[in-house]
Amino acid sequence: MARLARTAGLTDVQQEILATVHDFVEKEVIPHAQALEKADAYPTDIVEGMKEMGLFGLTIDEEYGGLGESLLTYALVVEEIARGWMSVSGVINTHFITAYMIGRHGTDEQKAHFLPRMATGELRGAFSMSEPDLGSDVAAIKTRAKRDGDDYVVDGQKMWLTNGGTANLVALLVRTDEGAEKAHENLTTFLVEKPVGYGEVAPGLIVPGKIEKMGYKGVDTTELVLDGYRIGADAVLGGVPGRGFRHMMDGVEVGRVNVAARACGIAIRAFELAVAYAQQRRTFGKAIAEHQAVAFKLAEMATKVEAAHLMMVNAARLKDSGQRNDVEAGMAKLLASEYCAEVTQDAFRIHGGYGYSKEYEIERLMREAPFLLIGEGTSEIQKMIISRGLLREYRQRG
Ligand SMILES: Cc1cc2nc3c(=O)[nH]c(=O)nc-3n(C[C@H](O)[C@H](O)[C@H](O)COP(=O)(O)OP(=O)(O)OC[C@H]3O[C@@H](n4cnc5c(N)ncnc54)[C@H](O)[C@@H]3O)c2cc1C
Repeated sequence: MARLARTAGLTDVQQEILATVHDFVEKEVIPHAQALEKADAYPTDIVEGMKEMGLFGLTIDEEYGGLGESLLTYALVVEEIARGWMSVSGVINTHFITAYMIGRHGTDEQKAHFLPRMATGELRGAFSMSEPDLGSDVAAIKTRAKRDGDDYVVDGQKMWLTNGGTANLVALLVRTDEGAEKAHENLTTFLVEKPVGYGEVAPGLIVPGKIEKMGYKGVDTTELVLDGYRIGADAVLGGVPGRGFRHMMDGVEVGRVNVAARACGIAIRAFELAVAYAQQRRTFGKAIAEHQAVAFKLAEMATKVEAAHLMMVNAARLKDSGQRNDVEAGMAKLLASEYCAEVTQDAFRIHGGYGYSKEYEIERLMREAPFLLIGEGTSEIQKMIISRGLLREYRQRG
C-alpha cells in the first residue's frame, strides 16, 4: 500500500517475498475473488499458485524443506492475501498452525514424517478444538480417546474445522484419561492423517458436508464425527499424552497474530475501496470526499488501519524474539478485529446504496469481517487473556 501499513526494518528477503505475494494477489486473487465467492467455489488455481511460491512451507524449517521464515513474514504475507480475499488466507492458516505445533512440540520422527510433505503442500493441515457444545471453554472438551493396546479408540463430535474436507492432516484435541485433577491436563493432541473428501473417509472417521456460512466462502468448514475411530499411540503429538491443551494454546497464540493480520488486510482493502469511491462519487456539486464528514471518516479509518498494523507487527516480532506474547497477541487480535469491523462498516456507508449491492466488493468484506471477531477466541476471551496477563504482571505485593 502506498502510505499505510508499512513495516520498518524488513530484510531484503522479506521485502522480496512480500512483493511477490502482492503481485500474485493483484493478478491472481483480486480479479477472481468475487466470482469464486459468489459460487462458493474452492480456489484451486490460487492454492496451486501458493504451492508454487512455497507459501505452505513459509515458516517450516529449512532442514525439512521449508523457507524457515519468521512469524512476522508469515503475518505480513497473510495481510497481503486477506487484502485480496480472506478465504485464501483461511486455506493456509490452519496449515500454518498445525505445522507450527509439530515443529515446536513434535517428536523427531513426527517432524521428519510430516513437515517435508507439509512444506510442499502435499500434506495440508487443519486443527480441531471446538465441539458443538463448546468453543471458548476448551478445557470442557468431551470427545474422548481411550487407550486400547497400542492404539487409542476415539468417540465424539468436533465442530468448525476450517479445511476439514480439503486437509489431509488434522491436529485433533481430545480428552484422555491421565488422572489429572485439572481438566486441561487430561487433553491430548493427536495427529490424524486422513484422505481428503467428505463422508466416511476412514473407518469411524466421518466428515459431513460443508457448513453453510455468512461469508468466508470457498474455503470449507466442516464437522468431524469420530465413531470408534482407531489411531496409534505414535500419533500423540510430542509422544506424551496430557499436553494437548498447552500445544493448542501455543498454536492459537500464533494464530491470533494471524487473525490480526487478516483483519488488517481486510481493513486496508476496505479503506482503498472507500477512498477511491469517495473521490469518484459526487453529491451537491462536489466529490463526497470533499464533504468534511466523509473526509473525517477516511481519516479515522486510515488511523485505525495504521494502529492495527503496528500492533500486529509488534506482537509478531515479540514472538519471533522468543518472548511470550499472549497479552500482545490478544491485544493485536482484539484491536485489529474490532477496527476491521468498524472500518468495513464505514467503507460500506461511504458507498451509499451501492455498498448493499453484490456487485461491489465492500458487500463481501462486510460479511467477512465479523468472523474475525470470533475466530481464535472472541473479543471477550481476548479481554480475559489480556487482563489476566496484566494482573499477573502488575500484581500488588503485601
Ligand atoms: C467460520 C468458522 C471457522 C472456525 N474454524 C475453527 C477451526 O478451524 N478449529 C476450531 O477448533 N474452531 C474453529 N472455529 C470455532 C471458533 O474458534 C469458536 O466459534 C469460537 O472460539 C467461539 O466459540 P463458540 O462459538 O462456542 O462460542 P461460545 O464459547 O459459546 O461463546 C458464546 C458467546 O459468549 C461469550 N463468552 C463465552 N465465555 C465467556 C466468558 N467467560 N466471559 C465473557 N463472555 C464469554 C463469547 O465471547 C461469545 O460472545 C471456527 C468458527 C467459525 C465461525
